[in-house]
Amino acid sequence: MLDDSTDDIDTILARAETCIDIAKRRADGDFVYYDLDTINREKQLTLLESGMPQALADGEFVVYFQPKVRVDTRTLVGAEALIRWKRDGKIISPADFIPIAERTGFIMKLDMFVLEHTCAMIKQWQENGKRTVPVSVNFSKIHLRFPHLAEKIMNVINRYGIEPHYLEVEFTETAYTDDFNAIKQAIIDLKSYGLMVSMDDFGTGYSSLALLKDLDFDILKLDKSLAGSDDDARGQVVLENILHMAQELSMTTVCEGVEDKNIVDNLRNMGCNIIQGYYFDKPLPESEFASRLESPIYENK
Ligand code: C2E
Ligand code: MG
Ligand code: MG
Repeated sequence: MLDDSTDDIDTILARAETCIDIAKRRADGDFVYYDLDTINREKQLTLLESGMPQALADGEFVVYFQPKVRVDTRTLVGAEALIRWKRDGKIISPADFIPIAERTGFIMKLDMFVLEHTCAMIKQWQENGKRTVPVSVNFSKIHLRFPHLAEKIMNVINRYGIEPHYLEVEFTETAYTDDFNAIKQAIIDLKSYGLMVSMDDFGTGYSSLALLKDLDFDILKLDKSLAGSDDDARGQVVLENILHMAQELSMTTVCEGVEDKNIVDNLRNMGCNIIQGYYFDKPLPESEFASRLESPIYENK
């Protein structure tokens, strides 16, 4: 953007170059305007980007655990490990920093940190005689560009002496469209070590039936956009049939983002196995999650 105060050609060119850099990184449009919003957002992103390695070293990244609840017995049967960035007393949401970490490749370190921390927690629960449940960890599709993901994960698990079935690896649905062969091989390798593998966010991307046909994962996680409303007749037919198909393919079904009792009841009637959503619990700091392990039944729910 040029205003009357901008008449120096070098400044104009420098701004144009900044816009070109931003445009190259963005997938959300063809035009980038050099306005105040763009400048501020870029500054903020650069700060986040450059601050990540130090933040990890300083312990600013923490792991929360969101309970997964079996819908028929209302029992806690698992958790998902979700990363949070605590900076200056505030929490930065993964939506704000995961895309940047994926861009720089730092996500590889972050995911391994979450895995490592999760293994440490599982070990601690076991040593304290607590009832222990499997925990899923998100792995970015960036990992699939490199070989030996399963071996790298197993190295960590073995170091903590944990049985592999306590760990579940989540890949988001959009990972499948990037490199089908890489993900197919990763699933085979992970399962050969006894790890559980799940497809996350089913229903947000192309949700191709070929993915369900060709990839042998253990768990299907349905995005809240599929399960989120019970007053959409077409949506209900799609939801019911996906749940049914998953069952026929021997996959466990998890519905995410469930906030209302109506939806819980509806999902239960449709045969969904597990629910992960605010209705039962938000992602919890580890001490709160540990207390859920002691009283794992969600009574009055
Ligand atoms: P996700 O893996 O699909 O995780 C579920 C997200 O849904 C979490 O958001 C969770 O807090 C949110 N959620 C759960 N129940 C409800 C509900 O009832 N209502 C609503 N509105 N939201 C609900 P979160 O923690 O903000 O994470 C967002 C995404 O960031 C995750 O989606 C995942 O794709 C990514 N992410 C989080 N942690 C990691 C990580 O350690 N590694 C990688 N690679 N990605 C991560
Ligand atoms: Mg997930
Ligand atoms: Mg999800």
